[in-house]
Amino acid sequence: MRTSSSSTRAASLASKAEAAYLGLAIGDALGATVEFMTPREIRAQFKLHRDLTGGGWLKLKAGQVTDDTTMTLALGEAILARGGRVEALACAQAFDAWMRAKPIDIGNTVRRNLIAFRKSGVPEAPPSEHDAGNGAAMRVLPVALATFGQSEAAVRMAVLAQAHVTHHNADSDAACLLLTRLVQDALAGASLRELYRQHIRPFVAAYPQFAYRPRRRENPSGWVVETLQAVLQALLDTGSFEECLIDVVNRGGDADTTGAIAGMLAGALYGLEAIPRRWLKALDPTIRAACRRQAHALLPA
Ligand code: MN
Ligand code: MN
Repeated sequence: MRTSSSSTRAASLASKAEAAYLGLAIGDALGATVEFMTPREIRAQFKLHRDLTGGGWLKLKAGQVTDDTTMTLALGEAILARGGRVEALACAQAFDAWMRAKPIDIGNTVRRNLIAFRKSGVPEAPPSEHDAGNGAAMRVLPVALATFGQSEAAVRMAVLAQAHVTHHNADSDAACLLLTRLVQDALAGASLRELYRQHIRPFVAAYPQFAYRPRRRENPSGWVVETLQAVLQALLDTGSFEECLIDVVNRGGDADTTGAIAGMLAGALYGLEAIPRRWLKALDPTIRAACRRQAHALLPA
């Protein structure tokens, strides 16, 4: 029998998982407007970019998301279809079907390795020191939810199985594992300080290429190292969901992806109540519903 405190804990966990999913989509939609712009260009056009207005180089509708969110949702469906298990082949088939449906946007490494999968049927990309883009890191969320509470070894295996379909690279792996741990501990109730002490500080000590101080990271590229530098700075230097997302997307560069990753982390950390109403209302309603549904369905019962 469930005690009332364990059901309260389960409710808070589910609501934070939902916030992480909605945060990912909101950050993607917010950042896409200014993707590939410099901070100076953003300032000239918006002063401060802070609303889901659409536009950008993809000419999006207000509240529309890009590949970061749609690929994450495709992965989530594949995991749910396998009863919560993360299997490389199922992930590769889901990404392949996603690519066939002609997404508005797709990363080069993702496309190249999915085309290779079509030919070979092998769901694991060959290791490559060049495939250090942020395309696997941007979609860790469904795995973080599906493996919540599992052993470290099991989590690691699942994280790498999905990542290696398109990005088989040490920096990408390190980033995917860190992001998964941050999401899982934030869902379990860790504070930002605790996330820093237990995960972020030791991570940068082990992988000094990710060091994000002292220089402010602007124009972060699609290289997962620069992406994480911008995201970690924005997360650690702000104290709310809204501030964190506005900070990270106004740095420009790969802003939809930094927005998506920061939104996922800030959602898991600050919870549903912290998400501004205007952003929730503006988000594409089909995407909003899919995020909510997957968040609840993916968490272990
Ligand atoms: Mn994108
Ligand atoms: Mn992007």
